[in-house]
Amino acid sequence: MSNIMKNSGFISLVGAGPGDPKLLTIRGREVLQSADVVFYDALIGEEILNWAREDSEKIFVGKRAGAHALTQDEINALLIEKARQGKTICRLKGGDPFVFGRGGEEALACVENEIPFEIVPGISSSIAAPAYAGIPVTHRDLATSFAVVTGHTKTDDAPPENLPKADTLIFLMGVRALPKIVAQLLAVGREPSTPVALVRWGTTTDQQVVVGTLETIEAEVLREGLKPPALIVVGEVVNLREKLLWFDNPKFKPLLGQTIVVTRAREQASSLVSQLEKLGARVLQCPTIRIQELEEAEYSTLDESIQNSASFDWVVFTSTNGVEKFWQRLKALGKDTRVLGNNKIAAIGPATESALQARGIFPDFVPESSISEKVGEGLLQLEARRVLIIRALEGREALQKTLETGGAQAKVAACYRTVPDISNAEIVREKLATGEIDWITFTSSSTVTNFIEAIGVGVLQESRDTFRVACIGPITEKTARENDLIPDAVASSASTESVAEILVDFSQRSEL
Ligand code: SAH
Repeated sequence: MSNIMKNSGFISLVGAGPGDPKLLTIRGREVLQSADVVFYDALIGEEILNWAREDSEKIFVGKRAGAHALTQDEINALLIEKARQGKTICRLKGGDPFVFGRGGEEALACVENEIPFEIVPGISSSIAAPAYAGIPVTHRDLATSFAVVTGHTKTDDAPPENLPKADTLIFLMGVRALPKIVAQLLAVGREPSTPVALVRWGTTTDQQVVVGTLETIEAEVLREGLKPPALIVVGEVVNLREKLLWFDNPKFKPLLGQTIVVTRAREQASSLVSQLEKLGARVLQCPTIRIQELEEAEYSTLDESIQNSASFDWVVFTSTNGVEKFWQRLKALGKDTRVLGNNKIAAIGPATESALQARGIFPDFVPESSISEKVGEGLLQLEARRVLIIRALEGREALQKTLETGGAQAKVAACYRTVPDISNAEIVREKLATGEIDWITFTSSSTVTNFIEAIGVGVLQESRDTFRVACIGPITEKTARENDLIPDAVASSASTESVAEILVDFSQRSEL
């Protein structure tokens, strides 16, 4: 019987791409999302692992400072062992699995042990890191060939004795062997003026590029203190960087090189994170709260309100999570959007508005500024009488109070809760201590208080001179002030776009 028929597991050798998580292939992500076990090593970003199934087993098999690294034989043995248990395995490898990734050896181990396998190619750093540095590896007038060479052979920290004769040479794993590489190239007659670039952490927000010539590059690398992992590009094409510089171009990336902490819950953070990254920032996510389902009994008010939805004239949604969880609950109750057929609908701000629109509802009212009091005042003007407020269990009372003071009835129905999340606090504390953080952003009052609690007042006060604070609006600002974190910038309209904007303004002003 063939192994495909037996329950023998399956191994996918997947190229994770060069670093930018979005350079993983669609097939790669598909495999990652379905695998029982994920094997990964040092150059794989955390974000890519976030795509893995939550309940999958994640096994680190790379080298980490101080820790014993598994040998290739041990990795192969572990892969085979897991496959024999009938598991589907995603073996993630940096770049492309067959370009200096020892993927060939792992595939051979599959064949020898009769384990079915597939190869999912990845974008190799050898072409992607130069591309992100503005260096095309070929160019009609300058280079008609390129070769990818190891700077670290089986026996030695050195390139192979006979270098290929391509116009562009790209050395991987070659930082330590740089002096030998330079000496060998000069020995075979390459001009001392031949341009050379080193690209470190290419395609990521940590990308660093050092440019020189065969004559000057060693001194440049020493001066910049550039360390592995990096690759080396040698050839005339390197000069094109001057014109083609894009990814790390300060003109397009006003936040280049800045480390910005985002304290929003992961479920809500993605738009702010991607806006900041697009502007060149290195984003450190430190969600201080996590969204959680309610206990069954805690849905009773919501369920009742849904049953009696016709008794309210207005229904207000105060967050995108509220929208998402409300519809989840509707589904669980076997109901659909028609329960809101007799209600007018309000959204607290543009993000909640678009979450509603995605569900086919165009809100009747969205206030100019996303503040609970403003929603309340607006609704009173519209003569709201009986209002249902959909929100988190531990939200602010302001909306309810405003409505009641104005003579309307208001009922709060919780549809999710927020709980503290301190998973990234340690990393933030370390980076605060070393002064590596440029900005901390707060997008609600609860992010301020939760963040202070997670990090500790002492740590924040000690490093206060080394970072700046940005708040999304006046309420968040007030909470920050009350906690001795005087904001350096406050967004003019309560939106993530506005937060990104003030950071850009600030960095442009401080350059003047
Ligand atoms: N299979 C990988 C290469 C593995 S060898 C690929 O196809 O990209 C590891 C070497 O690749 C590192 O020592 C470094 O030279 C290079 N490398 C990997 N990721 C890199 C990156 N983001 N930027 C620059 N060099 C990188």
